[in-house]
Amino acid sequence: MARYIGPVCRLCRREGMKLFLKGERCYTEKCAIEKRNFVPGQHGKTRKQKIAGYGLQLREKQKVKRTYGVLEDQFRRYFEAAERTRGITGETLLQLLERRLDNVIYRIGLSTSRPQARQLVRHGHFLINGKKVDIPSFSMKQGDVITVLSRSQKNPTIEHAIEEVKGRGIPAWLSFDSSALSGRIVSLPTREQINLPVQEQLIVELYSK
Ligand code: SF4
Repeated sequence: MARYIGPVCRLCRREGMKLFLKGERCYTEKCAIEKRNFVPGQHGKTRKQKIAGYGLQLREKQKVKRTYGVLEDQFRRYFEAAERTRGITGETLLQLLERRLDNVIYRIGLSTSRPQARQLVRHGHFLINGKKVDIPSFSMKQGDVITVLSRSQKNPTIEHAIEEVKGRGIPAWLSFDSSALSGRIVSLPTREQINLPVQEQLIVELYSK
């Protein structure tokens, strides 16, 4: 599956907010948002950021896409699935994205960022309900159990991530047993449990034109 491979801090600067794409660095003063919080490009510093209407809707969509590392076609498929599901489309869209395996690994603290989680999944370090899964977009269901493969339990990247993200907290819809390196989907996430400062309704308006 295709993915963005350009400079990621540029994406945060374009959106004017931290998208947390670089792990530990995002929490330090080296973060580009802390140092140069203006739009990238030659005229970035002087460019007026007054946006409204379509521009605002587009920016909200880009923020969500870039946060979860999803490209346009796949993002639209998530939106269409959310539209077909009962409930509030914007919230369902975020819920579908939160249920991605790479996001769950990031949320339970087995990686320092979503891009790192994606790589760990691709390298086949995890079991879902006892079966190996190496698809980052795999959609987790309530009750699913995720475990680290026994041969991967001493993987330095995973060990480092667990140490690094200790104390950052795990959302209430997930649980994690650090001794067994095992996590569980306790319930599906509600909007309040999804820590993402975006107005998802604007994305619905954008796609409903
Ligand atoms: Fe974004 Fe992290 Fe880069 Fe900061 S360090 S700009 S949060 S990717």
